[in-house]
Amino acid sequence: MSESFAGGRLTIDLGALAANWSFLARLDPASECAAVVKADAYGIGIAKAAPALARAGAKTFFVAHLSEARAVRDAVPDATVYVLNGLPPGACDAFAAIDARPVLGCVDEILEWAAFRAASGARGQAAVHVDTGMTRLGLDPAQAHDLLPRLPFTPSLLMSHLACADEPERPETERQRALFADLCAQAPGVPASLANSAGTLLRETSGGGLGFHLRRPGVALYGANPIAGRPAALRPVVRLEARVAQVREAPAGAVVGYGGAERLHRRTRLAIVSVGYADGVLRAGGSEDGAPGAAAAVGGVPCPYVGRISMDLIAIDVTDAPETVARGGWVEILGDTIGVDALARACGTIGYEVLTGSGRRHERRYVS
Ligand SMILES: *Cc1c(COP(=O)(O)O)cnc(C)c1O
Repeated sequence: MSESFAGGRLTIDLGALAANWSFLARLDPASECAAVVKADAYGIGIAKAAPALARAGAKTFFVAHLSEARAVRDAVPDATVYVLNGLPPGACDAFAAIDARPVLGCVDEILEWAAFRAASGARGQAAVHVDTGMTRLGLDPAQAHDLLPRLPFTPSLLMSHLACADEPERPETERQRALFADLCAQAPGVPASLANSAGTLLRETSGGGLGFHLRRPGVALYGANPIAGRPAALRPVVRLEARVAQVREAPAGAVVGYGGAERLHRRTRLAIVSVGYADGVLRAGGSEDGAPGAAAAVGGVPCPYVGRISMDLIAIDVTDAPETVARGGWVEILGDTIGVDALARACGTIGYEVLTGSGRRHERRYVS
């Protein structure tokens, strides 16, 4: 690849992605492990992620939109692909054309799909989504109870989604599991799916019961742990480095960045690096006097951000860095030292937002 002089360098470890899928698959061998690759595979790129997951053993993929289903179909021709956000009006033909399966979550969607099948003779498969306590997509429980025994076709999957599984002490998860099991009894013989990443990881400690026939982990595949404070053996998949644009010494008393939000209290060596909030490094990760922000890493040592994050730049305090930082060098924004969950916490958000917000300006390379 010719040198692009990009401000950020994103390295995506497809070997780690495959290892994370295998780890999650092994947690509950009786339940199939699918892969959720919506939002361009949580920012890492569907075209590379889906084949890597398929080589690891994944057969079933979930996306949010039909355009993403097309990307999976191109990358893994024999994949089973479900579209979580359902069936937009008039989209049946487009789904059938690539053999994508809509996840039907309301009566109108079910009727439209059934009418299409009847009119076209198409045998397209679809999932039915039942809402067991999230009040987002899906038939509400009373409706589902009534409708499931008399659906106009047999769905290929019955699914529901957990709202609180990232907080293991919450009682809602067991309530959702019980209600879902009850609704599944209304559609005997139809495979069932409930667990996301957190539901899959809960298995390790709670003994599970959330696996049913198929699990749908997303974020954990990409190395983020949705359950705070409960370590899981997930490998980091995404490494983001920022190029050093300038290194400068500033005296005690100098203020750094927009608004002069942070005043230096000692002579400080600053590395000004070429990524900013336009690259998905959330502005909430900046610092101000008395309120530290996130950190980058040099030689495995965290070096704090100084002042507000600009659109294209961040100032980093490298006074105590173990190696020399020079113009043209690189600092780690996200990687082995600055984990995705830690960076998210420092920015007041969750790993999901850090991963999916990763900008489009970076130079990308895939390794395995
Ligand atoms: C996004 C999503 C998942 C995957 O969730 P993670 O928390 O990323 O594992 C599973 N099921 C549905 C319905 C989703 O929307």
